Amino acid sequence: MAFMDKLGDLAKNIGEKTSDAFETTKYSAKIALEKNAVKDELEQIGKFYYDLYAQGGEVAPEILELCQKAKEHFDMIAQYEEEKERIKADNAPAPKQCPICGINLAPDAKFCPACGEKLD
Ligand SMILES: [Zn+2]
Repeated sequence: MAFMDKLGDLAKNIGEKTSDAFETTKYSAKIALEKNAVKDELEQIGKFYYDLYAQGGEVAPEILELCQKAKEHFDMIAQYEEEKERIKADNAPAPKQCPICGINLAPDAKFCPACGEKLD
């Protein structure tokens, strides 16, 4: 039965293709895992050389420029963080004070610990 044979071949073919697709997916996942792992290691290598540069150590001229660029970015981060903290501090509510004796109070204080004034 040639037709049935062909049908059988077709089914076998589809089966193989499905299993091939499964295998390639499996390898894609493995490759992604390895790529992730190698990224971490490369980052650590980079950090090692950057730290060396930041501590005034000698780095290869090939990576000196990269270290300088990284430092510029770290400097920008520090500057932005300072700016962020400054804005936060500017917008922080003024500390609550006792209306009677004027001491600074915890925001949730119900009584003044110094004069005993009841607070709202
Ligand atoms: Zn008070």
